[in-house]
Amino acid sequence: MKIHEFQAKVILAQHGVPIPKGFAVSTVKQAEKAARDLGSKAVVKAQIHAGGRGKGRLVANPNRTAAMYAKLEADPTAHEGRVKGSPVGGVRLVNTPAQAAAEARKILGRYLVSHQTGPQGRKVRRLLIEEQSAVTNEYYASVLIDNALGAPVMIASAEGGQAIEEIAERNPAAIIRLPIDPTQGFPPFRGRQLAKQLGMPKEATFQAGQLFAGLYGAFVATDALLAEINPCVLTQDNRVLALDAKVNLDDNAAFRQRYQDWRDLHEEDPMEIKAEQAGIGSYVKLDGNIGCMVNGAGLAMATLDTIMLAGGEPANFLDIGTVNRVERVVEALHIIHLDPAVKAILINIFGGMARADIIAEGIVQAHRKFRIKTPIVVRLAGSNIEQGRQILDESGINLIQADNLGLAAQKAAAAAAA
Ligand code: GDP
Ligand code: MN
Repeated sequence: MKIHEFQAKVILAQHGVPIPKGFAVSTVKQAEKAARDLGSKAVVKAQIHAGGRGKGRLVANPNRTAAMYAKLEADPTAHEGRVKGSPVGGVRLVNTPAQAAAEARKILGRYLVSHQTGPQGRKVRRLLIEEQSAVTNEYYASVLIDNALGAPVMIASAEGGQAIEEIAERNPAAIIRLPIDPTQGFPPFRGRQLAKQLGMPKEATFQAGQLFAGLYGAFVATDALLAEINPCVLTQDNRVLALDAKVNLDDNAAFRQRYQDWRDLHEEDPMEIKAEQAGIGSYVKLDGNIGCMVNGAGLAMATLDTIMLAGGEPANFLDIGTVNRVERVVEALHIIHLDPAVKAILINIFGGMARADIIAEGIVQAHRKFRIKTPIVVRLAGSNIEQGRQILDESGINLIQADNLGLAAQKAAAAAAA
């Protein structure tokens, strides 16, 4: 699960990471008041679940976001540095409360397009109004799990401000990786060593130690997948601060965390929310045009791979898990059918605990109920397969059947392309 910058900063601050003073607001008036409370000078920051805001662009008409995205992709450097010059993106420096209000008016309600938002952009509903910092240097810092190592790592660089992928590409030697023994944690002394390695001035070392230790503390305490500060800055008076923050949370830990409080449904895919509300396994939206209904995560991955091999592109996958209720199958197909991007549906079910006849009955009922015109390719195997086939055959519904996954994927790719 993703959360907003202002929420990530609250979490970091709770673990001793210094952050700029600021207020999250959702109206122009609140933005103006916040800037006044901060003493006039401020930064106005769009809150969306995507980065690259400073170099992004705002668009009023949602139909124009794709064109703007294509423009940014064609020349990602076109707007670099504009944060400090004439304001164009989702991060703006202002000198007075009136300016804060004017910028808030230009940002709120518009769609912010950045290289991380995708072509649809993101509607801005909230702003973070922060005090300005006199930045002399920008660093990168993050904590994540290194799967190969089986342990968390602290990643840092003196070349902050840009995405870590960009630093890695341009100058991999500028990236420091520190493996962390979870039984030892990341104590402030290691943070102070890191500060030295990054070339931070002596006056900032103590605070940097607290910042890095706090970053790790926040990562562990919230069961995060990623905790990132980019940029982590040094100010003119040698303080260090988290100027931007990102915390991605692990949904598997939701049961023991307060994730619900931090959720912003506006930022999530409406179909994914619908699947969740219907209590149906997991639905994941993808970019292609073949809708996939499968059971089990492993089979889902294999199905997506096989579709790609056959030259198709999955539009989504809905893992219905082990389902033995007809209504659930009907609801699942409904959700896939609702996605306008879907030009063909591939149903790939291997009935172990799930029964093929119940799946077949669900397919038939959904087809009748929603008058599905989209071609459906069905590959069923496993328990009660004979009864399942019989139900499909006797229904008189026009389905494309396939005996194995490779064939099913080819047929789905062909149907989607037709
Ligand atoms: P992102 O573009 O979504 O990653 O948003 P950031 O919060 O990282 O802001 C982008 C850039 O704006 C930063 O890298 C800084 O260079 C600049 N910036 C943001 N806030 C301030 C500030 O208070 N003072 C100065 N001088 N620069 C800022
Ligand atoms: Mn940033």
